[in-house]
Amino acid sequence: MTELSSRQRYDFKRDLEEISKLRGQHTELISLYIPAEKEISQYTNYLRAESSQASNIKSTQTRKNVQGAIESLLSRLRYYRMSPANGLVLFVGAVVTGNNQQDMRAYVFEPPQAVTTFFYRCDSTFYIDPLRDMLAEKEIYGLLLIDRRECTVGILRGKRIEQVFYDTSQVPGKHGRGGQSQRRMERLTEVAADEWYKKMGERASEVFRNTNGLVGILVGGPGPSKRAFIEGKFLHYELEPKIIDLFDTGYTDEYGLRELVDNASEAMKNLGLVKEKNLIKRLLTAIRDADGGLATYGEAYVRYALTMGAVDVLLLSEGLRSYRAKITCSSCDYTEPDRTIKAGEIDKKLEEKCPKCQSRLTVKEKNDVVDELSELAETSKATVELVSQDSDEGETLLKAFGGIAAILRYRLDFPKTIGREPNAS
Ligand code: ZN
Repeated sequence: MTELSSRQRYDFKRDLEEISKLRGQHTELISLYIPAEKEISQYTNYLRAESSQASNIKSTQTRKNVQGAIESLLSRLRYYRMSPANGLVLFVGAVVTGNNQQDMRAYVFEPPQAVTTFFYRCDSTFYIDPLRDMLAEKEIYGLLLIDRRECTVGILRGKRIEQVFYDTSQVPGKHGRGGQSQRRMERLTEVAADEWYKKMGERASEVFRNTNGLVGILVGGPGPSKRAFIEGKFLHYELEPKIIDLFDTGYTDEYGLRELVDNASEAMKNLGLVKEKNLIKRLLTAIRDADGGLATYGEAYVRYALTMGAVDVLLLSEGLRSYRAKITCSSCDYTEPDRTIKAGEIDKKLEEKCPKCQSRLTVKEKNDVVDELSELAETSKATVELVSQDSDEGETLLKAFGGIAAILRYRLDFPKTIGREPNAS
């Protein structure tokens, strides 16, 4: 399993969205899922067999397209002897573009999670569901169950729970003999419990600190031990801010892990959203500030602030679907200044003619605006936060601020011309 950064996740999501819209004229789009770490030759043999099967297809066009797609798959697989650590996913086929034209497209993914079963399908759409499911599994939580008898540590990835270790203690149970010996016994029990917590704290800390992308830790157990464990600071101090809460569970073994996740589901659902909400609230407060505040929004203003190195946090909506495009003339040297165009409007833009020679315009370069602004942000070490549309605040960012806003490091005087730029959003 590879952890995706929020940027990779965004790119992946965007690709899938694009692929999901593609259609073939007939059942001629091929989706191929190859499991992890397998000899590729068995799959190329399979594809060759499919190709000869396809020679029975009656429609010449469909036959040609299916066989062409298989050829393209084979040529891409030539570079592999074994499939990569998570397998391979390929989508190849002739898709319908405007005016009933066809265009051969090919996409190759090394997915973030392992492909476990081979899958081949020829259809009028690409089959992306398994990849989409991998994206949905994003959040990783540490799970810790403890009492004086047992301790279980696990990791939650999306909906999947993995038990990492289970251990039992030597802490003596309660005895009722009374008097001197009972007090001595109690002292010994406390010492043993302390050692048990210490040992489990060290092991759990090692697991959690070595888990990349851990967003939080859930702690459970039936009695007061879990609180004693947390208050005794037996987890590494760096992990403390990640503790989300303590939850009562009936068990401290593998069953308890499921119980813990169920009991904490509400708290987890809110966590990601809370972070986004807080960011947008911080932005709104800064914008409302009478002095102009440490914030700005709208692409042109944010772009200016980025180039000045004044951005602390760049907020981008995941709902943004625009390109930064370089448009040039197909025959003379006319070049437009770079501009931002909504994903759906590029074709329309290309219907315009070159103002100098009336030839056709072409897109020389295009970059997703989210990627392009993120790169700009990285040069001045600004933090980039991608904000989902899953909360009202996320919607506000997209609808009211054009999906682009920034919290600034210092107050900035913007040139008066900015607002009048044609590409101001
Ligand atoms: Zn021209």
